Amino acid sequence: MFGYMALFIAIVIAVLWLFQIILLDDIYRGTVKAETKGVADAITVASKLDRESLRSRVYSLAADHSTCVSVYEISGSKGKEIISAHSQNLCVIHSRLLNESFLADIYANANGKSAYIETVEGSALGEGSILCSRVIPDGSADLLIIVNTPLASVDATVRTLHLQFGFITVILLVVAAIMAFVISQRFTRPVAAMNKEAKKLAVGNYDVNFEGGDFLETAELGRTLNYAAGELSKLDTMQKELISNISHDLRTPLTMISGYSEVMRDIPGEMTAENMQIIIDETKRLSSLVNDMLDLSRLTGGARRLNTTVFSLTECVSSTIDRYAHLTEKDGYKITFDFRESVFVAADEILILQVVYNLISNAVNYTGDDKLIHIAQTVENGMCRISVSDTGDGIAEEKLPHIWDRYYRTGDFHKRAVMGTGLGLSIVKGALILHNAPFGVSSTPGVGSTFWFELPVISDTNQSSSI
Ligand code: ADP
Repeated sequence: MFGYMALFIAIVIAVLWLFQIILLDDIYRGTVKAETKGVADAITVASKLDRESLRSRVYSLAADHSTCVSVYEISGSKGKEIISAHSQNLCVIHSRLLNESFLADIYANANGKSAYIETVEGSALGEGSILCSRVIPDGSADLLIIVNTPLASVDATVRTLHLQFGFITVILLVVAAIMAFVISQRFTRPVAAMNKEAKKLAVGNYDVNFEGGDFLETAELGRTLNYAAGELSKLDTMQKELISNISHDLRTPLTMISGYSEVMRDIPGEMTAENMQIIIDETKRLSSLVNDMLDLSRLTGGARRLNTTVFSLTECVSSTIDRYAHLTEKDGYKITFDFRESVFVAADEILILQVVYNLISNAVNYTGDDKLIHIAQTVENGMCRISVSDTGDGIAEEKLPHIWDRYYRTGDFHKRAVMGTGLGLSIVKGALILHNAPFGVSSTPGVGSTFWFELPVISDTNQSSSI
């Protein structure tokens, strides 16, 4: 910080040095030239006046600009001074113009030009002077205006500035050091502290606190990092839970499969169709678990593109209910479906099928002892809503926002033997977000839950499949 401030000060001093010392002489001479020419221009304008008015104008201009002015009337080769105003001692006009040939030179240089400017260097004349001359035709005789401003010495000024810049540089460096210290206390220190905490976070220590200090930006950064640390910590906990869930979920069917297979191999008479069915069911559970994980990673990883076709959503729901026919028959589940007509939608049929399947599957898992599941299809404002309701224990309000999160499970035991993975609803969410479809849940603890989603109705069912 101090280094940057010192560099900034060095640049400022260098710029000041350049303009105030190195270019000072040129800038000064340029200014005096412009001013001298300005006086000559003003006298040219005043030359239209009568002689008396011209004289008083010349005097006042010479006094105002600390310059010397001579106005000559030139007729033939003779020159006669008609006005002379001197406010400086060392002017060229005073010292040399009495010389006829010098006057003739000036006249020759200025004649026919708008103005003639020259710098007259001279040791006897101090630092020299700026001389501006103009010739104004005036009847038979010409008027020759000569304006001469002596130049002052800038050496003394430069010496003073040198000294001043030395002091200024030292003072600024001290100020920079103090400011760098103060700023680093308030800005750099929190950044360094946050950096230290970030390193802890990087090695998996989530017990960190990012203090952003007083600056708006660092305070904001601190808040963002604290939020990120919180989210990372949550994700870490979820992942740990997932590993334990998944290993549990994988272990149960694997134990069953290996156990039953050994029994069937070793004990005569155990090679029954029922035992075989158990092995098949457990294998299916395993594969659905693996598929869920795969589906979710495709959906959330952006690898899954929508393959939109027009299909009957009503049919899609009915066919999913049919897949549960064995459950309804065997275990006494009652799945009802309310709909008026077959509704067509343009969506990715495979994904929507999965959404419906996951919602019904959850309803079956969590519904109450009456084993009732009610599905309704309603159409309003061009949107078709599918709601899946159960009569289970419902979900506590504070848990509702989290149930769509990956690996989240409320911890309530499942009604059925089939264990969930905590992935079902995140697949539903991922698929519906991909469709831009509204979805939600309402739940009353002790009464039941209703999960729903909506898709726009397609009235023209011949619409092409590339929508
Ligand atoms: P899981 O495989 O555990 O069912 P989901 O992602 O499908 O995972 O659901 C996440 C959590 O939401 C579940 O663990 C459960 O606690 C809750 N949940 C989902 N559906 C229902 C429902 N119909 N009734 C009550 N709770 C539900």
